[in-house]
Amino acid sequence: MDEQFDCIIVGGGIAGLSAAMTLARAGATFLLVERGEWSGAKNVSGGVLWGTDLHRLVPNYWEEEDGGWERFVNHRRLTLMDAGGAFSLDFKSDHFDAPPYTGVTVLRSRFDAWLAGKVDEAIAASPKPDESFLATDILVESVIVDESGAATGIRAGGDEFHARCVILAEGVNNLLARQVGLEKEYVPADHVAVGVKEVIRLGRETVEDRFQLRGRSGLTNEFVGAATDGIDGGGFLYTNTESLSVGLVIGMAALRESGRTPYDLLNAFKAHPAVADMVRGGETVEYSAKVVSTGDIRGVPREVYMDGLMIAGEAAHLVLNAGRAIQGMDYAMRSGILAAETALEAVEAGDTSSAQLQRYRQRLDESYVMQDMKAFQGAVHLLHSPHMTGALPRMACDFGREFFTVDNEPTRKATAILRDVRKQHIGLVDFLKLGASAARHL
Ligand SMILES: Cc1cc2nc3c(=O)[nH]c(=O)nc-3n(C[C@H](O)[C@H](O)[C@H](O)COP(=O)(O)OP(=O)(O)OC[C@H]3O[C@@H](n4cnc5c(N)ncnc54)[C@H](O)[C@@H]3O)c2cc1C
Repeated sequence: MDEQFDCIIVGGGIAGLSAAMTLARAGATFLLVERGEWSGAKNVSGGVLWGTDLHRLVPNYWEEEDGGWERFVNHRRLTLMDAGGAFSLDFKSDHFDAPPYTGVTVLRSRFDAWLAGKVDEAIAASPKPDESFLATDILVESVIVDESGAATGIRAGGDEFHARCVILAEGVNNLLARQVGLEKEYVPADHVAVGVKEVIRLGRETVEDRFQLRGRSGLTNEFVGAATDGIDGGGFLYTNTESLSVGLVIGMAALRESGRTPYDLLNAFKAHPAVADMVRGGETVEYSAKVVSTGDIRGVPREVYMDGLMIAGEAAHLVLNAGRAIQGMDYAMRSGILAAETALEAVEAGDTSSAQLQRYRQRLDESYVMQDMKAFQGAVHLLHSPHMTGALPRMACDFGREFFTVDNEPTRKATAILRDVRKQHIGLVDFLKLGASAARHL
C-alpha cells in the first residue's frame, strides 16, 4: 500500500482549505487535491464571506497589507424593484467598523489562492512539514471503497492515494458524494439555482466616491422583483476594492419555465435605472456562472458521513438564503473546520468508522449552520413565493412614488396610499397571509 495520510481532502475551495488549515495546525498529515490550476481558479461566489470564522483560521487577517479579501461590510441595503423604481431598506452603522469584521467581500480567484498560501505556511510550521500537500490541477476520479463499505482513499491522475479518512469538499456538483451513495443521483430542480455574475472594474476612487466608502469599508446591496423580471430569484451588487460584483441567482425550475437566459436577465438587471447608475462607466473584467443550492434543507443528504468519509460545504448543500444574505462560504468554512476536528479526534482514537464520524453530524447540528438551516426553512420557502418577486416590490415602488412625491396637490396620508396600492396588487387575504408568514418565519 502507498503511504497512508491521516486525511485526504477532495476540493481546495473554502470548505477544503478550512479543513486543511485545521489539520495542518494540529500537526496531522493530509493530501488536498484540487482540480483547478490553483485554488479559486474554478470558484464563483457573489460574494460576501459572513461571520468571524476567517479570524479563527487566519488570526488578525485584516492586519495584512495585501490580504485576500476586498472590503469589510458596514453598509447593507435591500432593494425592492419594479420596472422603473427601487425602494430600499438601508442600514449603515459604525458598529460594523471594528475588526473582527462580520462580513468581508471576496473575489474567489484571489481569496482562495491567498487562503491556500496560508495553509502552505501552516504546513511549513507544522511538526511534519514534508508529509502534507496541496496538489492542484488534478481531478479526483473516484473514492476507493473497500469490501466492508468503508472509504479508504481516492483515485486521481491514474494513481491511488490512501488515508484513514476522506473529506469530500467538492462543492455543489458533488459527483463523488453521489458515487459513494450519500447523495441521490438526481437533484430536484427546486433545490438548486443558477448564479451568474460579472466583475465590473470602476477603479478604487470611483468605487469609494460613488458608494460613499472610506478606507476598506464596503456596501452590499441585494435586490428582488424586477431584478429577475419577477422570476423566482434575486440580484446582488457588492463593492470590492476597485470593482463591483454584480449578479443574479435564479431558481432553476423557474428559469426553465420562463424560457429566458441568465445573461439576458443579467443584462436587463444592469440596465435598470437604479443599477445602471451604479455600474456606469465600468468595464466587465470577469463573467462567470455556476449552480448554487437554494438552502432547501431537503437538499442536504440524509447522512453527511459514512465509514471513513465525511462531506463538507456545499457538497452537502449547506447553504442558506433566507432573505438576509446568501450564506454558503461561511457554512463551508465552519463545516470544513468541524469535519477536520472530527477527523483529528477519530484518527487519534484509531477509529474512523461511521460510529465515530457521526460526531461530525452532531457538531454540525450543534452549530449555527444546522440550527439556522432548520429555523429559517419557512423563510426560504417564503422567499420563493411569487408575491416576493411580484406584488410586494411593485407595491413598495408604487407606495414610494406617491409617498416621496411632493407636488402642488393635496397630499394623501401614508395609510391611504398603502391601502390603495395593496388593493391594486394583492388581495386582502393573500396580503394578511404574507404578513403572518413573514412575522412567523423572518
Ligand atoms: C452567483 C453566486 C453567488 C454567491 N454568493 C455568495 C455570497 O455572497 N456569500 C456566500 O457565503 N456564498 C455565496 N455563494 C455560495 C458559495 O459560493 C458556495 O456555497 C461556497 O463556495 C461553497 O464552498 P465549498 O468549498 O463547499 O465549494 P466550492 O467553493 O465550490 O469548492 C469546491 C472545490 O472542489 C473542487 N473540485 C470539485 N470536484 C473535484 C474533484 N473531483 N477533484 C478535485 N477537485 C474538485 C472545485 O474545483 C472547487 O475548487 C454564491 C454562489 C453563487 C454561484
